[in-house]
Amino acid sequence: MKRIAIIGGGISGLAAAFALEERRRAGVNLDYVLYEGSASLGGVLRTDHVDGCIIEQGPDSFIREKPWATDLCRELGLGDQLIGSNDADRKTYILTNGRLIEMPDGLMFMVPTKIIPTGLSPLFSWKTKLRMTQELLHPPRARNGDESVASFVERHYGAEMVDRLADPLLSGVYGGEAANLSICAVLPRFAEMERTHGSLGRAMLAARKKTRKKITAGSRQSASLSLFTSLKNGMQHLAETVVSKLTPGSLLMNTPVQFIQPETEGWMVSANMRSDRFNRVIVALPAPAAAQVLRVASAELSAELAAIQYSSSITVGLGYDRDVRQSLPPGFGFLVPRSEGKQLLAATFVHNKFPHRAPEDRALLRCFFAGKNAEDVWALSDDQIIGIVREELRQILGVRAEPLFARVYKWKSAMAQYGVGHLDRLDRIEGLRQQLPGLALAGNAYRGIGVPDCIRSGRDAAKQVVDV
Ligand SMILES: Cc1cc2nc3c(=O)[nH]c(=O)nc-3n(C[C@H](O)[C@H](O)[C@H](O)COP(=O)(O)OP(=O)(O)OC[C@H]3O[C@@H](n4cnc5c(N)ncnc54)[C@H](O)[C@@H]3O)c2cc1C
Repeated sequence: MKRIAIIGGGISGLAAAFALEERRRAGVNLDYVLYEGSASLGGVLRTDHVDGCIIEQGPDSFIREKPWATDLCRELGLGDQLIGSNDADRKTYILTNGRLIEMPDGLMFMVPTKIIPTGLSPLFSWKTKLRMTQELLHPPRARNGDESVASFVERHYGAEMVDRLADPLLSGVYGGEAANLSICAVLPRFAEMERTHGSLGRAMLAARKKTRKKITAGSRQSASLSLFTSLKNGMQHLAETVVSKLTPGSLLMNTPVQFIQPETEGWMVSANMRSDRFNRVIVALPAPAAAQVLRVASAELSAELAAIQYSSSITVGLGYDRDVRQSLPPGFGFLVPRSEGKQLLAATFVHNKFPHRAPEDRALLRCFFAGKNAEDVWALSDDQIIGIVREELRQILGVRAEPLFARVYKWKSAMAQYGVGHLDRLDRIEGLRQQLPGLALAGNAYRGIGVPDCIRSGRDAAKQVVDV
């Protein structure tokens, strides 16, 4: 029988465990043990239920375009629990000189595809608008190494586009700054568009034309699907449902792994002063924890993993009454460019984005700090952090009312930052991993930080250890 250890019980490790459980039930002769350092499974997938509201402490949804999370939900029998974001109300605002300005229609990430709304929008200066027009003439350009997202965007549209859009949009996903993130790892599609078309604007228009043709050719249904998908009862429900399908005796909680070590016939896993032998190991941890666990097995691999930076984040959920709800603008929420000098990076109007998550007489706001902004307030008490949030919501939205409830959730070093050169580092990591037979890696450190990517990484790791 093949014995497999999975280290880490976040969604990456759980997806690996579920894939192994399925293989086991299908008759493959294997056994697995999942080691989780904390008292709960699911990692950052945690949901609170307060006063009729559903508050996501970590991720609130996943993008539909990447199918692995939706597929897993369906396999788990959660198909009827899937909900889409309320895209009819999908407006996002950018705080610009203290005012909320709506992102113009037709912006695909930061690429304008509709001339009139962008041309009329007060979000950009005339200089940037002129750059957008000139960008349409950029010739194809061969890629010569990696560069930061900020430098890439600046070459196409200028510094204002980095400040007003690229940086705030990426902060919301990675909790990091465009100046530190790799274009090849974070926005590979854009790097490819530059190579084939030169102009991102022209490339996007060409891609849209193709999609439109496909839709008119028959797949009308796909046009009506929402951009973001989530679960009626929150993201934790996904983790709990995976856990309910696993063999209970295989799950070791409160069991942080200290290190793993290759042996002649497999691996030894040391946790809680005990060691156990396995044929294969899946390390499904954030890179800093993976680096620790692998330091005995390979100092070189450990060093490469330790070099992947992570940022911390804080989410704050606030509930308000009907009056506040009525006073808020429509839409999904707002982003705050760093140049605005606020601590908050973003806020979601949850009651609009996912109406099922708040009763009709409640407003539910989710505010977000990350990176330096999170570090700056990290040591403060929850009350002090709530005080900062309230003051900034007063300045930005004019909300003066006392919240009915407020909750602060802190996530230390949970979001991977794919820095410039990340893909080269992944090649080196893969080379070093191959020198350690029977080891697989999963998690958000590698090829995607989102929940769907993590699920895919867990499944791939399971396949790797069963099939070799
Ligand atoms: C605030 C926030 C908001 C996010 N929003 C979204 C979103 O809206 N959509 C989206 O798609 N993605 C989002 N993400 C990203 C996504 O949620 C994460 O990248 C993903 O859930 C990570 O899963 P994981 O299993 O790889 O890691 P984790 O969830 O970090 O799990 C790792 C697990 O390993 C355990 N562990 C650590 N060390 C050890 C050890 N030595 N031994 C045993 N166990 C150990 C930990 O206790 C933890 O349970 C968000 C992330 C955060 C933090």
